[in-house]
Amino acid sequence: MKRILVTGGAGFLGSHLCARLLKDGHDVLCADNFFTGSKANIARLIGNPYFELMRHDVTFPLYVEVDRIFNLACPASPIHYQRDPVQTTKTSVHGAINMLGLAKRVKARIFQASTSEVYGDPEEHPQPESYWGRVNPIGPRSCYDEGKRCAETLFFDYQRQHDLDIKVVRIFNTYGPHMHPNDGRVVSNFIVQALRGEDITIYGDGSQTRSFCYVDDMIEGFVRMMDSEAGFAGPVNLGNPGEYTMLQLAENVLRLTGSSSQLIFRPLPTDDPRQRQPDITLARQHLGWEPRVELEEGLKETIAYFRKLIDA
Ligand code: NAD
Ligand code: UDP
Repeated sequence: MKRILVTGGAGFLGSHLCARLLKDGHDVLCADNFFTGSKANIARLIGNPYFELMRHDVTFPLYVEVDRIFNLACPASPIHYQRDPVQTTKTSVHGAINMLGLAKRVKARIFQASTSEVYGDPEEHPQPESYWGRVNPIGPRSCYDEGKRCAETLFFDYQRQHDLDIKVVRIFNTYGPHMHPNDGRVVSNFIVQALRGEDITIYGDGSQTRSFCYVDDMIEGFVRMMDSEAGFAGPVNLGNPGEYTMLQLAENVLRLTGSSSQLIFRPLPTDDPRQRQPDITLARQHLGWEPRVELEEGLKETIAYFRKLIDA
């Protein structure tokens, strides 16, 4: 049994990770400021004697004794991270400094939830980890993209300068139960709109692509990376290489919900990447990991979750 801190543990991915770590027999400390996360996501874990919940903002130092740290704290959807962009950068950068300082003091292995956004609007397709990216440093998405890039820099500097045991993953679009219904991400938007019979909002002409990974696959990747051999720090891409246009995604959602919602077209947000597909060769080689859940199967689970939420 290990004592494991999960920052951002009340969020979409964090709540699934906390549940998985408890199931694996660990002692879990969840730290979250509830900016986008919710108690509902972790309600079923409260009462477990090995689960502890702490309201804490990672931009402030944290003094706890743990063996491992998963650093997930950061709003992930464009609507949320653009609401208070300065706080987003602070969360990524000061949050990383605080968690790295903690890891250094207690000699903990530390994991960083980085993102495919470090590749920006990529010229290389699919994106391998060796690609340095094409990111606008001064646009509306920069607080998130550059914040995450700076966090990666800090992780690798702490490794070089302080010999810290770091693990960095670059997460590509992930979906599943516990996504916030109003967080503006495409999978939750389309499903909620379809279930409510509202228009499906396609940004741009819907030909831009994304690769969608089901949450259970992603969490398996997190655990494998955290448990991987010392010395393998990444960064490693985690995502599902299956690539879809937003129009294809909308068609799938309409078919699986049986909805008769109409498609409407809205302007493409600034700096919206044209395409996105992970090269997961490194994850296959080092972690023996690849996604197993097909889009159709994952969408069905996610639709069932949102149906319950909307009917409640
Ligand atoms: P989420 O918004 O559901 O979860 C983020 C959690 O962090 C929330 O519970 C929020 O309240 C908490 N948080 C935010 N700022 C905080 C702060 N200053 N102090 C403490 N807690 C704070 O998002 P998610 O999808 O679960 O993302 C989790 C992590 O994975 C994030 O770091 C995100 O950047 C990364 N990521 C997610 C995706 C994805 O597709 N879901 C893709 C790439 C990267
Ligand atoms: N998108 C869309 N309609 C929506 C929400 C998003 O067409 O209601 C598009 C968005 O412009 C982007 C893609 O879906 O091209 C994925 O958006 P999301 O915010 O989920 O993730 P990210 O852009 O961060 O990859």
